[in-house]
Amino acid sequence: MADFDRRTALKGGLTVSAVGLLGTTTFSAAAVAAPGASEPKIHDTAAWGARPPNGAIEVQNHKPTYIVVHHTVDPGNVTDYTLEHAYWASRSIQNFHMDTRGWVDSGQQFTNSRGGHITEGRHRSLEILRGGTQHVLGANVGNNNSTCIGIENEGLYSKEDVTPALWDSLVKMVAYIASQYGISPEFIKGHRDFNSTECPGTVLYDRLPELRTAVGSLLGSASPKADLPEWPLLKPGDTGPRVRTAQELLRARGFAVPVDGLFGQSTKDAVTALAARNGLERDLCGATAATDEAGFLGSDVWPLIMRPGTDTRALKAQLAG
Ligand SMILES: [Zn+2]
Repeated sequence: MADFDRRTALKGGLTVSAVGLLGTTTFSAAAVAAPGASEPKIHDTAAWGARPPNGAIEVQNHKPTYIVVHHTVDPGNVTDYTLEHAYWASRSIQNFHMDTRGWVDSGQQFTNSRGGHITEGRHRSLEILRGGTQHVLGANVGNNNSTCIGIENEGLYSKEDVTPALWDSLVKMVAYIASQYGISPEFIKGHRDFNSTECPGTVLYDRLPELRTAVGSLLGSASPKADLPEWPLLKPGDTGPRVRTAQELLRARGFAVPVDGLFGQSTKDAVTALAARNGLERDLCGATAATDEAGFLGSDVWPLIMRPGTDTRALKAQLAG
């Protein structure tokens, strides 16, 4: 959403100079990182030849709450695992975000290649992460950028799994971020936990409990609590009892959809209209492809169609079962 970023760029212009000094003075906080979560090799924007941003980078005076895992979709699941390719991919993402999306810079704070090379995304993200007290406002999780720090993982993981190298660097990077900000592993999320999107792909999404456990063991923290149920993601073409439940709730909200358990055109139109009416930010991800996710019904739509007074946990459990 270009308008979103232009607004934040303007706001950033007012605040970034005030926090610039703080950013440097807190730099030494990296030295207090917990044992076992040392900084992995992170290639900064200068290393991969980033363009300068089109506007001010907004640095917020609070830590992020969530670490969010994404997939990039493009350039697909390449087999070029070199550092040179990771640099190329970083430039390609930045070009797409600045030239096509109209954002000030790369949307994500960090990028992880299929060869396991980690690069800085949005300028200043590495410096601020080392400080451990502030947050570079990105553009990768619609309506939630103030609380989320995002890692774009190169590839498409709807059906295929990530490479072992990508997985290893993801574990190390997430552990380092969690350590710097004191984030508990249960706050490691997938993009679809916030927005109605396929990202980070069902295969990678289903490995998030494993990621939380791996990060927890690197940090030496207790085993993460049992995962709370998340809202399911329903897509046009889906069938079954969860679609039927969604249709019942949409009807109760005044949408003339059938209650037949088939996610057809009228259900898709209803969800699209509801998302627009409520200002849900779609297409706000670091992904480099404009995938058609119109009508997807996920974590930001369920709360809008729940009956007033519904027990959220009970409904989530019903949908999960
Ligand atoms: Zn995403």
